[in-house]
This record gives sequence, structure tokens and C-alpha cells, in this order.
Amino acid sequence: MKREIAALVLLCAVFVSPPLFAEAHGVFSGTNREAKRHRDMPAILMYHDVMDIQPETDAMRQVIAIRPEHLEEQFRYLEDNGFKTLFVSEFAGLIGSEMPKKSVVITFDDGLTDVYEVVLPLIKKYNIKITVYANPGFNGTNGRMSYAQIKKLHDSGLVEIGAHTMKHANLMLADDDEARAEIRYSKGVLQEIIEAPVTSFAYPFGKFGYREEKLVADEGFRIALAADHSHGKNYRNLLSLPRTNIGEKTSLKEFIRILRGL
Ligand SMILES: [Zn+2]
Repeated sequence: MKREIAALVLLCAVFVSPPLFAEAHGVFSGTNREAKRHRDMPAILMYHDVMDIQPETDAMRQVIAIRPEHLEEQFRYLEDNGFKTLFVSEFAGLIGSEMPKKSVVITFDDGLTDVYEVVLPLIKKYNIKITVYANPGFNGTNGRMSYAQIKKLHDSGLVEIGAHTMKHANLMLADDDEARAEIRYSKGVLQEIIEAPVTSFAYPFGKFGYREEKLVADEGFRIALAADHSHGKNYRNLLSLPRTNIGEKTSLKEFIRILRGL
């Protein structure tokens, strides 16, 4: 139920929020040249749950979650068509220089057990790199991975771990100290778990403003990800990188269109 509520809130953040909705109409409102420049950049894809869902499953769940078979179809497409996957940190390091042709950035939010149980075998099979934004405040509860599972993901070499606050806090509703603590401790705990630096952050519910960007930067993150693509592939601000949600309702045709930025 909690996950359903989280999905609902996320949906609101991504698809219903009036300002975002209004901005969505401006996805490719720039010049054709600008649109082409953005097309040449990799898309950043955002996934959540990977689970068996049926056609009659509620519509919101179908937007947020994806069936394992459907995810594998997408991974197979990437392999068959020569797409290179980049960690978020690799991608950010390449901004301003030449990006590899046909590349994509794949992210999974919330550090759900689905990622360990279902996605890890698939990324090994297709040699795909992903970045996982985890909430270390849960450690094996609320459908989240345990610390040991997070460490195993990291040790696979195919997963970069990013921070997503301790307990999936809506930072916009937290006071300065609470927001800072959620950001700081999620970074610190995750670094202890994986014994490596955690350099990127994803805003829970995609909720952030200038204060949150500043707090994230103050805590040493160079990169932070939003949860919408209303700015298309405008990657100028590393503290609000846009992402495109992928779920069960995303057809292969739509997936290809997103990859190509059309
Ligand atoms: Zn989240």
C-alpha cells in the first residue's frame, strides 16, 4: 500500500503537477537546431518496480512498473542495436565533450528488491550498466534492498549507486536541517555500504527547487536527477538533469522514439 501511495505521489509529480504539465508542452519548443543537438545526447531513462502486472492492473501501476519480459525486450533492443549504456557519473563527465554514438543512461529509483532479484540477472545477461538510487533508511524493509544486496549490486561492476535520501523524504516539505540530514546521511551511509564514493543524487518524487539544488551541491554531489523530461534533453544544469519515465505502458516503438529523442 505504501508503495502504491508512493507511486501515486510520483505520478502526480511527473504527470499531473500543473506547472510541469504546462512545461511539458515546451519539450521541443526550441529551434530545430537545438532539437537536433538534444537528439544527439543520450536519453536518461527512469524505472521503478519490475514485477508481474496484468493488463487489468491499475493504470498508475502500469506507468511506474514494468514486467520483467518487457524490460528484457528493451534490453535486447539495446544490445541488438549497438547501444552503449553509461553510468550517470560517466555521462555527466562527458557533457561538453563528444558523447558515444547511440548511448543511453538507465536509472532505477528507490533501491527496490526487484532490482536485486530481477534486474541484476538481466543486466549481467545483456552487459548493461545501470545507476540505482537507494534509500538506505529502510535496509531490507518497505520493499527495499538490504545493505548486503546494495553492496552486491555495486560489486557486480554493472551498477553505480546513487543517493535518494534516507527514507524517501519529500525535501520540499522538510525544513533546512531535516532536508540537509536526509541528503547528507543517505550519501554517508551508502558510501559506507559500498566502500566507494556516491556522487549523484535523485530527488524523491522529483520534488526540488533552488534550495534543494543548493543543499545537494553543499553536500558534495555534482549531479542530481529530476523525475520529468519537461525540458527534453536539456542537460545544462547538472543539478536538475531531466529523465524520461519508462513503464509497462511504454511500447517498444515509444521506447525507440525516446532513445532517439524524436
Ligand atoms: Zn523515489
